[in-house]
Amino acid sequence: MSYSYRSIRSSSVAKRYPRNNQNRSRGGRGGRTEYINPDRFIKKATAAEAEAYAPTHTFADFALSPLLQANLATKGYVMPSPIQDQAIPAGLQGRDVIGIASTGTGKTAAFALPILQRLIHEPSSYALIIAPTRELAQQIEDECKLLAKGSGLFGALLIGGTSMGSQLRDLKLSPRVVIGTPGRIKDHMQRGTLKLHRFNVVVLDEVDRMLDMGFVADVREILSQASAKRQSFFFSATLDNRVRGLIENFSTDPVTVSLKAGSASENVHQNVVRYQGNMDKIDKLHDLLLQAEVTKVIVFDETQRGVERLGKELIAKGFKAESIHGGKSQSQRQRALDKFKQNQVSILVATDVAARGIDVVDVSHVVNFSIPKAYDDYIHRIGRAGRAGQIGHALTFVAH
Ligand code: AMP
Repeated sequence: MSYSYRSIRSSSVAKRYPRNNQNRSRGGRGGRTEYINPDRFIKKATAAEAEAYAPTHTFADFALSPLLQANLATKGYVMPSPIQDQAIPAGLQGRDVIGIASTGTGKTAAFALPILQRLIHEPSSYALIIAPTRELAQQIEDECKLLAKGSGLFGALLIGGTSMGSQLRDLKLSPRVVIGTPGRIKDHMQRGTLKLHRFNVVVLDEVDRMLDMGFVADVREILSQASAKRQSFFFSATLDNRVRGLIENFSTDPVTVSLKAGSASENVHQNVVRYQGNMDKIDKLHDLLLQAEVTKVIVFDETQRGVERLGKELIAKGFKAESIHGGKSQSQRQRALDKFKQNQVSILVATDVAARGIDVVDVSHVVNFSIPKAYDDYIHRIGRAGRAGQIGHALTFVAH
């Protein structure tokens, strides 16, 4: 049976604040708490002054099949993005690739294109793509689907919150591409419905997030079951010792492709909004959302309850808003995201986890209604604004 591809950095070191400082963010991952100096939330966008990246390749230079070239053209991709320019040649040579890049840089196509090229020409090859969140997995699948259109390749999307039935059906058809989150992938491995020994191409996307979310043991187990002789791609917005440790364990003579540190946020104007007390805080948010230049905004809050409450409050104030957090079902999350993408609502209130990897091109503002737990989270959040070469804005609420 033939299928069309269906489902088939700031330089300054953070100052330590006294314990009772009210701007201090609490909780932290695995009990870790990071103090972030509010000065780090203030920075002018520099992208306009920065020299434009001149790619060394055109897509035509890459040894990609005419079908992939045609699908790229249909998608409207004219020139490779920097990460694509550097990662695609190495990927096509069969090398392991480490890409230091966040969402919005074109990293998905940077790994998808060499992988699809290989799968089209090597019927014995199978690819496993692991992402930390359902939304990111879904986005990767959407991109792969379009890039592989007409190839006959078949894929399965294995994420939580969606029906097991259709996943089981897809798995019976021996999909050549499996995209999923660690939990659901492991679930299928344990049920015996997914056998990984044939999978000789593996992608770990947003490795740093995967570690933050406590998936390290699952990921190690999944990788240990994949074919020992494999090509691996690792993508991470940051490369700290934990990330490096995992990657070194599972890669062989990798090529590292790194975008300039902090480049994902260089085209974001960053500033703070000072407030005194909760009343003032919500009033300031209200005034901000009424400004003409705030056309499409993601408002981050720390907890599911906080997001839910703030979403309702904004709707009560007459704003068109949706909220997205881990306490909602997958279909509710997807519906909210679709409404935001299609401009039916202009405000999305979100927790970090739910917003991870979200790719909405025209977000004008990111508002940090609560201070992120860690500076890395901050960089991830503000990377949602200023996509596709546009200048974006990030505003962080800081108590006086
Ligand atoms: P990603 O970082 O993979 O999430 O991609 C971010 C956005 O850039 C997505 O909307 C892609 O469709 C888009 N994109 C990726 N590569 C290119 C390219 N070469 N030219 C134009 N847009 C692109």
